Amino acid sequence: MRRKLVAGNWKMHGGLARNRDLLVSLVRTIGKGGNADCAVCVPFPYLGQTQDLLKGTAIAWGAQTLSEHAQGAFTGEVSASMLADFGCRYVLVGHSERRSLYGESNEAVAAKFVAAVQGGMTPILCLGETLEQREGNIAEKVIAAQLDAVTQAAGMPDFANAVIAYEPVWAIGTGRTASPQQAQEVHAFIRDRLARSDAALARRLQILYGGSVKPQNAAELFGMADIDGGLIGGAALVADDFLAICNAAAG
Ligand code: PEP
Repeated sequence: MRRKLVAGNWKMHGGLARNRDLLVSLVRTIGKGGNADCAVCVPFPYLGQTQDLLKGTAIAWGAQTLSEHAQGAFTGEVSASMLADFGCRYVLVGHSERRSLYGESNEAVAAKFVAAVQGGMTPILCLGETLEQREGNIAEKVIAAQLDAVTQAAGMPDFANAVIAYEPVWAIGTGRTASPQQAQEVHAFIRDRLARSDAALARRLQILYGGSVKPQNAAELFGMADIDGGLIGGAALVADDFLAICNAAAG
């Protein structure tokens, strides 16, 4: 039985006062832990604040991207070891906004995945198709290419310490959610593809769904056989909503 995980992606939102209110309410309500794991992925400048407020609680934290390089002349970049210094357990890699707005290719995402694992963190590898790709019936082909780039660069053993998030681009921040059946189909496709290389590992791997998850739709999505929790954007900024989604995952 896979444990469920709900991870919040704050994107470029937040501020010291607002973060404190949000994190303090999360600690008060879910800080002792429960039947599901919870995490928040925050902007780099707030990692220290997040670490101070969450350390010793059951809520994990992480970042939203990282450099593929270990160190050096890479102005503006942040390495895996720097994230580890702030106690990050998770780091998102290949979020669709990084792919589309910052030109991250499948190969660049794969290199970041490797850097995260080598740095001792759990990458949350985001995969997903655009609306045009879905309507053109190439969603599985696109997701397979995104996934294969990582399995080829990293090798299957690295997936023992990784999480996948299926995030259809057309559902992110749009209010339009994939139906539980649509999401389940893609989750099963991802798990089956990995199972070809290592069936036991694929069975253990957490595959999250992301894309307009709300308190109203979380339980139904998380009830599907291959959906092991969620990656949450907008609703992760509202304590009551994030809490309700974490409770839906805890069952
Ligand atoms: C995300 O940013 O990963 C996301 C899923 O956003 P939202 O929940 O707002 O659609």
